[in-house]
Amino acid sequence: MTGAIDARDRTTALHRLASGPLDVLVIGGGITGAGAALDAASRGLRVGLVEARDLAAGTSSRSSKLIHGGLRYLEQRDFKLVREALRERDLLVSKLAPHLVKPVPFLYPLYKKVVERPYVGTGLVIYDAMEGTRRPVPHHRHLTTRGALRMAPALRPERLAGGMVYYDAQVDDARHTVTVARTAAAHGAIILTRASATSLLRSADGARVTGARVRDSETGRSFDVTAERVVVCAGVWTDLVHESGDIKAGYQVRMSKGVHLVVDRSAIDAETGMIVRTEKSVLFFIPWGADRWIVGTTDTDWSGDRAEPTATAEDVDYILAAANRVLARPLTRSDVIGVYAGLRPLVAAAADTPTTKLSREHVVDVPLPGLASIAGGKFTTYRLMARDVVDAAVRDFARPVPESVTGDLPLLGADGLPAVRAAARRLGEDFGVPVTAVEHLLTRYGSLVSEVLEMIRQDKSLARPLVDGYPYLRAEVGYAVTHEGALHVEDVLARRVRLLIESPDAGTSAAAEVAAIMGGLLGWGRRRRALEIRRYLEFAATSSAEALHSLAA
Ligand SMILES: Cc1cc2nc3c(=O)[nH]c(=O)nc-3n(C[C@H](O)[C@H](O)[C@H](O)COP(=O)(O)OP(=O)(O)OC[C@H]3O[C@@H](n4cnc5c(N)ncnc54)[C@H](O)[C@@H]3O)c2cc1C
Repeated sequence: MTGAIDARDRTTALHRLASGPLDVLVIGGGITGAGAALDAASRGLRVGLVEARDLAAGTSSRSSKLIHGGLRYLEQRDFKLVREALRERDLLVSKLAPHLVKPVPFLYPLYKKVVERPYVGTGLVIYDAMEGTRRPVPHHRHLTTRGALRMAPALRPERLAGGMVYYDAQVDDARHTVTVARTAAAHGAIILTRASATSLLRSADGARVTGARVRDSETGRSFDVTAERVVVCAGVWTDLVHESGDIKAGYQVRMSKGVHLVVDRSAIDAETGMIVRTEKSVLFFIPWGADRWIVGTTDTDWSGDRAEPTATAEDVDYILAAANRVLARPLTRSDVIGVYAGLRPLVAAAADTPTTKLSREHVVDVPLPGLASIAGGKFTTYRLMARDVVDAAVRDFARPVPESVTGDLPLLGADGLPAVRAAARRLGEDFGVPVTAVEHLLTRYGSLVSEVLEMIRQDKSLARPLVDGYPYLRAEVGYAVTHEGALHVEDVLARRVRLLIESPDAGTSAAAEVAAIMGGLLGWGRRRRALEIRRYLEFAATSSAEALHSLAA
């Protein structure tokens, strides 16, 4: 059990799913579904997961990428949520995923001399006090105006009355989701992507859910997967899954769109992340890799396409205006390298409640025997969400099911990390790659780095960068196929590496190279490669790139 999700073995995974009753079938391969698969598999259950598109193709690749308690929720007095989230943050940083989840400082600039410092200061004292005992991130601290400007010369000095620095953490959300799914696979879970649950199966008397009809979108064929329990983790698609099974659940999901801009690091002169107040909420400036900032977000109701929500010119201008209220050198549309939009799966309250005011806590429901479903929550609390929905699903299971163990289960790549980090130079020498490349791989694969390096030993050309000026290696494309379940060029460029949002051309210049490497492993002929490239160009044009082009027009 290596935890490889090998796209070349997809047919085997499909047959395994179709051939036997499972204990638990998870619908949805975002962070919640991947977490639920890991939670159930690590309790010794026989688990399968079906994902309609790719792992993390929904909201779980489009978040602010923060693992945080959420200062905003503290202000809304959502103390339980903040406490739980901070403890999860600390667990992820210190034990479960130290290779993926990194502490990051945030500067909170102060503008109202007398009232703001005690108010924000008290909030941060509470925030720090809510952490667990691990404390892998430093406490907050106060800054003078001069100190704040030293950390962030980009801020307009007028009206600035000092600042506070506090710590949270960040993650590549799609990579984390894939790593959780792989860890589930290492514990025996069968993970199948591009496989959509089209309806729910019922027992002869209709009283129980007994599995799902699944459509394989690669072949168009459908098959039944039978399971003792079905767990719905379908994010903003949850209501549709319930409807497909004629299920009346105890809650409904409301979609709230959030947009982020990606800008070059040089556009904002600061050595720290920043959080500033806006009229309705807050705006984050989040350092992303060595070369980019992510700036966002928005929070508006959405009723359009769930799969590819789009950013409008209004969204982009709103973010630019909010950023420019505090920046000395204003950002313009020409600074924007990438745009992405995601949908928060919020648990519905009254229709007139603004989405900014809806709680980020999660809700679990068992609307019919055999079926449990979950919605709401945050990326940060996915492990607790997974535990709660699996607990609900197995409450009346035929045999005793152990408690969740994921709090003690490091994700793949976390085990032995310090020793592998210490060996970075030696690994570079042994495999003939620069130490900077090994360090880059360590932040993405942790102690599994030698699996990627092994591919380079077999084929030296894989040590070359995928695109000049970006840290990704060609080997990462091959590894995405053999270990991370990537089936299409889009899976690689949008989620295994993040060129879709990081590069001004949305990664289109790498599409042919990616198709060639993937094609070599998956047996694609010339026509299939051309089709994959064309599909990616179309996809990129309807997501970030087209949004940018239409803005420029
Ligand atoms: C703009 C924005 C910023 C955010 N920032 C943060 C943040 O910084 N920190 C934080 O903690 N949280 C954040 N969140 C929240 C967080 O991203 C989400 O709570 C989380 O990603 C939701 O994951 P999920 O697995 O529930 O949903 P999704 O990731 O959407 O996964 C659901 C999956 O189900 C699949 N699916 C749907 N129907 C079917 C079917 N019939 N069969 C098979 N598969 C199906 C979909 O394809 C999809 O992949 C943010 C959210 C947004 C929108």
